[in-house]
This record gives sequence, C-alpha cells and structure tokens, in this order.
Amino acid sequence: MPSKMNPFKSAMQQLTEAAAVMKLDKEILSALREPDRTINVSLPVRMDDGRIKVFQGYRIQYNDARGPYKGGMRYHPQVNMDEIKALGFLQTIKNAVVNLFYGGAKGGISVDPKKLSKAELERLSRMFIQRIAKDIGPETDVPAPDVNTDSEIMGWMVDEYSKIVGKFTPAAITGKPLSLGGSQGREEATGYGGMVVLKQILKEQKIKKLPTVAVQGFGNVGYFFALFAQSSNFKVVAVSDSKGGIYSAKGLDVRKVHEWKKQMGQLKGYPGSTTLSNEQLLELPVDVLVPAALENQIHKDNAKKIQARIIVEMGNGPVTAEADPILIKRKILVVPDVLANSGGVATSYLEWSQNRSGVYWSEQEVLQKLEAYMIAATRNVLSTVREYKVADLRTAAFILALRRIADAMQARGL
Ligand code: GLU
Repeated sequence: MPSKMNPFKSAMQQLTEAAAVMKLDKEILSALREPDRTINVSLPVRMDDGRIKVFQGYRIQYNDARGPYKGGMRYHPQVNMDEIKALGFLQTIKNAVVNLFYGGAKGGISVDPKKLSKAELERLSRMFIQRIAKDIGPETDVPAPDVNTDSEIMGWMVDEYSKIVGKFTPAAITGKPLSLGGSQGREEATGYGGMVVLKQILKEQKIKKLPTVAVQGFGNVGYFFALFAQSSNFKVVAVSDSKGGIYSAKGLDVRKVHEWKKQMGQLKGYPGSTTLSNEQLLELPVDVLVPAALENQIHKDNAKKIQARIIVEMGNGPVTAEADPILIKRKILVVPDVLANSGGVATSYLEWSQNRSGVYWSEQEVLQKLEAYMIAATRNVLSTVREYKVADLRTAAFILALRRIADAMQARGL
C-alpha cells in the first residue's frame, strides 16, 4: 500500500515551506492555518425505493480577504472534512495565483454518484443547496463543478437557490448550462488553460517540444487537456479513468477514445491499445505526465519511479508534499495545480462577471480573456522563481498568492 498523506497536512506543509522562504508575517500565517468557516450538513434524501438515506455534505469557506468565497463541489465516496479543508485552502491560493478577486472555498458530498439514479442525484443536489443557501450567494460564496459534478447539477443548484431567495440569481453558481447563463468556453476551460500554461512554460524555459503525453483521469479536465494536447501536436500515448487505462505507442485519437468510453462505459478494449493500471500509467517513460484525477497519486513511494520530464497537475493535489523534494532532486519539473488547473475558476470568474453585468461574450472572446489570465499567471510564477531563487514552481506560486492574500488582509486591517 502506498503511504497516503493526510491532504490537509500536506497542504499545510506546503504553506509552511513557502511562508518560511518569503518570511510571511507570523499572524497572517497562523490565520491561514485554519478555515474561516466549516459547514457540515446532513442530507436526508428520499431514494427511488421510498427509503430515506442520509448523506454527509461539507462546505469549507477558507478565506475571503480578496473577495467572495469561491470553489467547486465534489461528489465522491472519499470526500471527508480534511480533504475539503485542504482543497479549500488550495483554492484560496489558486484564485490568488491567477489574480481573481475571490477568496477560496470547497464543498462536497461523501457519495458515489454512479450508484444513484438521476432523480436521486437531483434530490441530493437540491437538498445540499437547501442546507447551505443562507451561507452562499453571488457576494458571499459561489460554488461550481468539481470531480463528478457538471453543468446539469449546477443547473439544479442554481434553480434551487433561486427558488429559495425568490428571484433568478445566476451569479450564485458558476459552471451552469448555457441556457441558464453559463459561459461559452466553461466546459473546456480547465483543459484549455492547462495547455496554455504548459506551452508558455516550454516557451519561456526554451524547452524544445516534448512529444509524448500520458493523462491519468478522463473526466472533463483530463479529456479536454488530452484533446488540446493532440491538436497542439503532442502525442497522447496513454489515458486512464478510475477503472484503468489504455496505451498505444503510436498515439491515441482522443476524440475516438472519448466516443468509445461513452459507448462501452470503459476505456479497456479500445482498438489498437493495450491495457494498463493507473499506477503503471504514472510510471510510463513519457515526456509529459498529467495527473488529472484525485489527490495523493504521486507520493513518496512512487516518486522515484516517475520517468516523465514534466508533470502537469491538472487534478487537485496529485503530488504530495513528501513527493515534491524527490521530484525536485530528480529535476522533474512540476507545474502545480494552483497554476495548471486554474483555467476552470478563471472562466468561472468570467461567467460570474457576465451574469452580474448582463453582457455576454462569444466563445472566442472568453478563451482570449482566459488565455490572458493564464499567460500572466505563468509569467508571474516564473518571475517569482527568479526573484526568490526557489527550486520549484509550487513554492513560487504559493509565494505569489500569499503575498497577494497577505496584502489584502493587511489592507483590511487584520
Ligand atoms: N473545481 C474547479 C477547481 O478546482 C473550479 C472551481 C470554480 O470554478 O469555482 O478549480
């Protein structure tokens, strides 16, 4: 069994290290060690067979120095308070790295959504909003999709919220369907943003093209990242989902693989590919490794076996704090989640802005604005690397974000 690190402990270790390098004010550091507010709700839901089942839901409002709390809602059996706390903290950092005037939050329900019918999923999502409605809102806390949640669920959530407050309030939730004020480009935003970051880093570091890519996780983020990688002339040789992965040395046709998965319910068996496990995928001799699934995937036990030159963290927290120094020593460049996958929340910001102003942009306009955010964030992280002479992009991204958060906390008069 790989040694799994408590995700909140791992995040706090990353905070401590960055705070030491930048000499962050001690009082600010201690304020950032715990979330502002912890919301724990129980969610009784009528199942299709008539019985009531009670689920546990969480919302962590971590810090709002820079604006309303903002972050996704995750549905997964592994969801627990420590995980959501860690992700709420990382979201606070991420939102500041990409320079959005948002604080950070995260929520989730401990549930396997694949075991629920659509009607059960809808009742569960509406119940969650009923429980937290008084704590969220366009100026307070704005939820969005995350692992196993999508625009359809956001549609139910915004409808439930609007009914409770008695008026249609699209800016309360982002990642909505287009028909309810969702943004053009939101669906592909995270994957697209990750590709912009990777290309910018290769350009600035004068790294010649790295042809092969392996992507762990084939949900919204992994799929779109793989798709944009392919259209940018990378060769996607492996992809996986929670059931396992497939490999082809010749390269996979990402769109066809996606169709296959939709039809068959699994990746396995895709013509011309061989199967491999998620662990094997991580250890493939590829140029770019993209963990786009859950946290704790690259840990101290397998960090020595990673063969990629660059790891792009498209999931949240896939590399543990214990694995980071091993990868730094081995000169493997880690593009941290708080930079690499910030395209999702940046487009949430654009969606929220459109909802509030009533002015709507085309897909091209949205992606152009997103690109500008991603390029600026990447440049700022790279210049922080030089300014503080740190060995890794994660520490630099944390320093950049913590400086912005600390400035806001100080300006408010801590
Ligand atoms: N769940 C995404 C993330 O982890 C998006 C959050 C948002 O749009 O608020 O960044």
